[in-house]
Amino acid sequence: MIKTYSLKKDGNISLSAHFKIREFACKDGSDKILIDTDLIPMIEKLRQKLGASAFIIYSGYRTPAHDKKVGGGGSGPHTQGYAVDCYLLDKKKKKIDAQKICAVAGDLGFKGIGYINKVNLHLDTKPRHWWGDETVTTSYGIEKINGSKDFYEYFNIKKESDPIDAKKYIQIKAKGGVWAWSGIGFKTKKQMVIPNGSKCELITKNVGKANGYNWDKIIYKNKTLYLANNWNKYL
Ligand SMILES: [Zn+2]
Repeated sequence: MIKTYSLKKDGNISLSAHFKIREFACKDGSDKILIDTDLIPMIEKLRQKLGASAFIIYSGYRTPAHDKKVGGGGSGPHTQGYAVDCYLLDKKKKKIDAQKICAVAGDLGFKGIGYINKVNLHLDTKPRHWWGDETVTTSYGIEKINGSKDFYEYFNIKKESDPIDAKKYIQIKAKGGVWAWSGIGFKTKKQMVIPNGSKCELITKNVGKANGYNWDKIIYKNKTLYLANNWNKYL
């Protein structure tokens, strides 16, 4: 639903945890601001999903006159309160890659997404589908540019599993598998043979030296084990 606000009267009102009405105001100083109520939870979710420390709207609502002034047609989603042009900062206050933001915004179901440049993008909730690359064209979307269904495909970026797996892994590279031990060195107890190709969680690399080998501490089949690491491929 599109709501109408006054910059003077409502500017300092918070619409959510991180967004105030004045952030959507037209840059020409107009008092009237239009904002789609669906847009707020969407941009909050995007902010959270990216672990951003800031979400900067550099163009939100635009009066038709201002829209024309900045190169728009005077009747686009910004003039109806559906859209923001923005950039986001990570925890180190660095601008987040707009390719990645476009991809994640697609996951969240934004109706309109436009890649503007390395760090800036357009987002909107206008009821129709338009995912585009504004560096190429604004008249049609990425599907028509090269057949891409989404921004992961378009920018050739890998979809991260959710939540991001912060664990490290090794893979056993030894034909007959390797013995895993209860501690560092062949004087500890033999536990099991881990077959060639097995993926194990790496706890500590080079946890100690024994019998002429460096040893790794790993987890395999829920057991904490030790391996001479000559046959470990680090993933
Ligand atoms: Zn825009």
